[in-house]
Formats: sequence, C-alpha cells, structure tokens
Amino acid sequence: MRRPALTLLAASLLLAGGLASAADTVVPAAAVKTAEQLRDKALHDDTAWQVVKSLTTEVGPRMAGSPADQRARDWAVAKFKALGFDKVYTEPVSYPLWERRHESGAIVAPFPQSLVLTALGYSPGTPKGGLTAQVVSFDSLAALKAADPATIKGRIVYVGPRMQRKKDGADYAIGSGARVAGPVIAAEKGAVGYLLRSAGTDAHQRIAHTGVTGFRDAAKAIPAAALSNPDADQLERVLAYGKPVTVKLDLDCGIVGEYTGANVIGEITGRKHPDQFVAIGGHLDSWDPGTGAIDDGAGVAIAMAAAKLIHDLPQRPDRSIRVIAFANEEMGLWGGRAYAEKHANEVAKFQLGTESDLGADKVYRMSASVKPQARHAIEQIAGVLKPLGVAYDARRPGGGGSDLSQMHARGMAALTLDQDATRYFDWHHTPNDTLDKIDPDQLAQNVAVYAAFSYMAAQADGDFGSAPGAFAGDGAED
Ligand SMILES: [Zn+2]
Repeated sequence: MRRPALTLLAASLLLAGGLASAADTVVPAAAVKTAEQLRDKALHDDTAWQVVKSLTTEVGPRMAGSPADQRARDWAVAKFKALGFDKVYTEPVSYPLWERRHESGAIVAPFPQSLVLTALGYSPGTPKGGLTAQVVSFDSLAALKAADPATIKGRIVYVGPRMQRKKDGADYAIGSGARVAGPVIAAEKGAVGYLLRSAGTDAHQRIAHTGVTGFRDAAKAIPAAALSNPDADQLERVLAYGKPVTVKLDLDCGIVGEYTGANVIGEITGRKHPDQFVAIGGHLDSWDPGTGAIDDGAGVAIAMAAAKLIHDLPQRPDRSIRVIAFANEEMGLWGGRAYAEKHANEVAKFQLGTESDLGADKVYRMSASVKPQARHAIEQIAGVLKPLGVAYDARRPGGGGSDLSQMHARGMAALTLDQDATRYFDWHHTPNDTLDKIDPDQLAQNVAVYAAFSYMAAQADGDFGSAPGAFAGDGAED
C-alpha cells in the first residue's frame, strides 16, 4: 500500500495542531508561560498612559523640525533613561524643513463666505495677498487623473472623495490618495491650487485634517489645502448651482531649508544574543494642530511600556528589545527610511519587528511575514494573544507598520498588529488629536500584545527568516 504524500496543506495543519519539526522555530514552554504573565500584568500597568500623558503635556505638538522637535528628542532620551533602558542613543535624520505660518480661504463668488481649511505638508505659500481662481471639481482621484488638462489649466482643483468609518481604516487609502497624489497630478495638468475634502471621517466638525502631499520637487508644487468636511459639503452645494465658483486661498507656508533631527532609540540588552533585536516603536513627531496623542504618542508609549515590562523581569531576555521613536514619519517616513538605509546590512540581526501607528484602540488582528519554518512560533504567539481578542489571520502578510515597513522591505520578518481604527480618522491630523481620545484600558491591551510577542520572539529557539531581500513581493510594503 502506498502512503499518501504529506501535502503542504496537511503539513501546515499538523503545525497548527501544535506539532513542530526539528527545523521549526519554537518558543520554549517556559517563555510562553512568562509571556502569559507579562500579558496579564500589562493589563493592570499604567506605564504607557503615564508616558503618553507626559509627552502630550510636557512637549505637546511636535511637528518635525519645529522648535518642539528638539524638546521631543530630549524628552524621549530622558524617558528611556528614567524607565531604566540599558542603552539610549540617537541617530541623525535630515529632511526639508516645512513651516506653517498662516492660512485662510474663502469663496469669493457667487456666494462670498469664509472656508475652514488647513495647508498640507510641502505646500508652498500663495503669492502675498492670496491666490484667487475659478474652481474645477472632481469627485475622485481617478476622475482627476482622467481629466483633460485644458479643463484644469489656471484653475484651483477640488477633489472630494468621502471616507467612511471602518474597523480596518481601509478608506484612508481613498483620502490619503487624494491628498498625496492629487496635488501632484493637478500641478502637472496646470492647476494653480488644490483643495481636498479632508481625509477624515468626522462628517460634522468644522475642523480640517492636515497631512502630507506627494510634492517632491518644490519648483513644481502648487498651494494645497484641505477643507473641513462641512466646508467641503458647502463648496459642493455652491458648485451644484452650475455657476462659475471662485475661491481665494491665502497660505503662508513652505520649505525654509534643511533640518537634522534624530531617531531616538532605547534598548533592553539581550543576555545571550545582545546583537540580535526585536524591533518595536512608534513615531515621535506629530502634526502641529493637536498634541499627537493618538498619532503617535500612543505608539511610542506602547513600545516603551512593553519593553519596560520585559526589563522588569528577573533576568534580561535572550535577545535585545530595541524601541525606536522615529523622526518625521508624517512628512514621508523620513525617520524610517534613514533607519533602513543605515541598518540595511544588518537586516538578518532583526529577529522580528513591528511599529504601532494607528492610535490606541485595541489590537484585533495579527498577521505575519515570516519564513514557513517560523509559522509554528507565530501560532504560539497567536495562542498567547488570543485571550486579548486578537485573531490570527494566516493569509495576510505582516507589514511592520509605518516606519518599520522600510526595514521589512529590506527583508526584516514583520508582524502587522491591526488596531481598531473605527474612531481614529475622526481625529487624525486635527486639533482633536489629544489625550482624552485615548482609553487607558485599550492602551493597556496594546501593551499586553507588544510585551507578549516581543518577549516570545526574543526567547525563540530559531529565527523568523529575516534576510536581505526576504519577503520581497509579499504585498505588504504599501
Ligand atoms: Zn502616525
């Protein structure tokens, strides 16, 4: 009788059932137990709350390159030290310095009235006294892409796609696409200005959402701003009369030079393999109108607090836990790109990594990009996270989060820990991104997730497949 061949599917089912082969990466039983204790302790630990309260109160808004940038870095160095991290250091990150000074806008005709708007990152200013032009409107980025340049030349382009609240925040792709690519396309077609319906889900607040544009060449950039959602509704109602609509933009903002900030890094040094790392973090910069609580003081706090719990164990973990507070994520992943460039040759030393940058509500889903032989260890991690309400989706790749996506793109094994983003885009990049939006219990759940997975990855017998060029084309680097 012929034995049936063990198919890949059957093999993975066996693994799912808990049987690992000798080639597999495995988390030892003692480490699983410690991770469960870390998880349970984290739920009653308020370190992350204290950290994000401290950052948002003592530093407040900290736009990259602003005077608060240096204060934020000083804060991060001091906080890492106060929490007892073994190593604290900075790595320089340089980028164009963009400033926002003054902004206003109005409908000039046919029904004169002011508009609530905010300038977008890398927007140049308007000429002194403002820019007045007729508006041409598109309901989507695709419609703008398809438009004849003759209809756009000399006009202010308005693009108004709407975002709906979604648990996975999927509609942000619609809003951010119109914000990043829209102004560039409009400029290429001869527009003199660009207006966007805010990339946000708060339909009833006269508060505009800022964010970066895709302008890479300042010489080709045009003034660009986002209208609050009710102001976008109003402009659309005025446009619906079918009469020529003229708008005035008065923006005083722009790139004023080059700035050098830094990624701030704290490490819990591994006992057996100090030069191998589990990398976690958030970004230290924020947009200027709010205090950067959900974006991304929470991410920095979650990572710091998770590492602090591991630091407080009776002995150091086998591998190091590296917490990175990234510089200038908001204007184009400058900190993440600088980090990946500097550490490109060390990608194999990164055991596993991911960054928290989608607020402070609960993690509900985990996915991973790891080598097949590490799936068993990922399932062990999933088992520890399951009581926290985290589902493991084996079909999706792990992307590493915002800045660490750049290390993943170079071959770092990575998780994605999806947070519930239902509320996030109501406040994201607005004056409403403040500490009161963080629920301390949900924040603690995040810390439990990060502490448990980081410890298990640090203690695993074997690696997760980080290697130069690994995971290319897994679709996660977007
Ligand atoms: Zn962010």
